[in-house]
This record gives sequence, C-alpha cells and structure tokens, in this order.
Amino acid sequence: MAGIDRLTDLAAPIANLEPRVDGTPLRSLGWIEVAAALAKLTDAGADLLRAVYLDDAGALARTLGRLKVSFSGTPGLSVDMREALAVATLQAYIAMRPCQHCNGRGFVHTPATQEMDDAGEWSSVPAFDTECGHCHGQGMDHIELGSVQLLLGVSEPVWEALLREPFQLAYRELRHTHEQASAILARRLR
Ligand SMILES: [Zn+2]
Repeated sequence: MAGIDRLTDLAAPIANLEPRVDGTPLRSLGWIEVAAALAKLTDAGADLLRAVYLDDAGALARTLGRLKVSFSGTPGLSVDMREALAVATLQAYIAMRPCQHCNGRGFVHTPATQEMDDAGEWSSVPAFDTECGHCHGQGMDHIELGSVQLLLGVSEPVWEALLREPFQLAYRELRHTHEQASAILARRLR
C-alpha cells in the first residue's frame, strides 16, 4: 500500500531526528504512532498531511478547495483554470522527493583522507561537508516548471503571463504548510 510507504517517509524524520531533552532519541516510533497523532489534528496542515500520506479523500478535497480559493484573487483565471491549477500544484507537491544526489541531506559528505605532500610526509585531511550543488542545500528535488505547464496543457505565453507566478506562490505555501504541520506533529509525539 503506497500510503504506508509515504507515511514512513513522513515518520522517519519525525521519529529519528528529534532527540528528547533527556537525550533519548524517539527511535521506537513508527508510522502507526505518527498516523494516530495525525488523526488528532484538524487544521489545513493536517489535511495536507492526510491527503499526501493517508490517501484520505476528504482531506484531499478540502486541500484542493483551499488551493482553489487561494487562486480566486489572481486576475484573469477562469474557474476551470483555477481548478486545474489547484490540481497541478498538489500533484507537483506530491511529486517532490528527497534529492537523489545527497539523499535529502542537503550536503555531500567527503570522508577524511590521507595525503602525501611533496616531501613524502603523510598528512590527514579531515572529513568535510559541502552544500549539495544539485538541490542547493534544500535536500529536495522539485518538478520541472515545464512539466507543470505540460500538465496544465497551456502555451508558454499563457503559462508565463498567468500561471507561473501563482503556481510558484501556492507551491511554496504548500511546502510551508507541510513544514509547520510536521513540526506540530513532531511536538505532539515528543
Ligand atoms: Zn541535494
């Protein structure tokens, strides 16, 4: 079941990354505990998490409804286009994955090495991390804007003039909502 795989994606950082104040990490938490905590939340963020991770149809409808409303202030968009843009934004959001170059860490690790200098002396070069050049430290791969334009079936000029900016705003907003909601969830589980 795809929902469980995705829920594990959500649970992994929440369950592993946040050590308790007493230093004990929350390693025993699994997706069942995360799902149970999620069931108790009721706001827009919880709807987004449920839509993405639990395939919850009601939460999906409410999330799409909110997106559609968020486009109502955008001039020049028909009702149909607002609806299509809402669907495309959520699809783009769901297509977001951890960056494959850095495994979602945002940096690339280079282990410590030994180097011989000109005089034949060995010296050690300590391990270091460099920001991942592929995702610029974000740790995420995003859908290409051209794919969103294709998804909407509109021409380049229409995309540029009417849709690109509201799409990017709504996409950023979804990411923000997701971050907030998973932070709330993590606090609940602590
Ligand atoms: Zn990366």
